[in-house]
Amino acid sequence: MRQRAVVLACGLALAAGFFSLPASAQVLRDNLTLGFIRFMAYHEAGHLLMNQVHGINASTWPKEDIERYADQIAAVLLVPDADDPDGVDEIIGAANGWLNAGAGHTANDPHAPPEERAYNIICFVYGSDPESFSDFKQYIQPDWNCEEQFREMDDQIEYEFVNDTDETGVPIELTYEAASPETQGARQFLQASGILEDLILDIETEFKLDRRTKLVAMSCKGKADEGTFHFDTFQSDDPARNFDQIAICYELVDMWMKAKVDIGQ
Ligand SMILES: [Zn+2]
Repeated sequence: MRQRAVVLACGLALAAGFFSLPASAQVLRDNLTLGFIRFMAYHEAGHLLMNQVHGINASTWPKEDIERYADQIAAVLLVPDADDPDGVDEIIGAANGWLNAGAGHTANDPHAPPEERAYNIICFVYGSDPESFSDFKQYIQPDWNCEEQFREMDDQIEYEFVNDTDETGVPIELTYEAASPETQGARQFLQASGILEDLILDIETEFKLDRRTKLVAMSCKGKADEGTFHFDTFQSDDPARNFDQIAICYELVDMWMKAKVDIGQ
């Protein structure tokens, strides 16, 4: 498959602001957490699809390209219909989450800078339907070619990732592990949101997984990097024991439930 780079430049000519289309501050706050968690979960699903459908992982592609591609897959999967106000509010929430996530990015982080991740989302939403999403135009630079970017990525997913056979793939195994007393609220929030159930439905309906896949909501405290979600592929000499895993960390959910965010006005 062809690989493409994100056209959005770093050092954007725009001041980092807050994407605010008509909505109350409370709606913005709630949707920021939901949207961000959903986007992060779908970013990991992007890694899962890359690995299982095309064998794209850290041993075959540069990490920086993988991370941007996972963002683009997530953005395309989450672009809402213009007449779905909840979906629109949430995807704006996800972009605003990135605008508020600046401090955690270091020079050796393979992910795109947070601001680029925010504008990538807004660009894809706008590009999916410039007429219906004309409110987004104020945040877009014409030379980002958002319509073209969206269409190209949407086509890649449609023709190079979507299941074009009559067979269904290996079902995803979902587990909500026990939470610590501190993250009990995050576990409940995550379960009530239905985000992981939505993700499974979207992936199983559209794509064909060929490996055992575990989606595990868990406490990541004390593990490698508790501040983010993870995709890992487990390989051993015994193929029956191989699987892919997405870890959804209660600590990250908890952090965004409590994060102080700048809601614009
Ligand atoms: Zn990633």
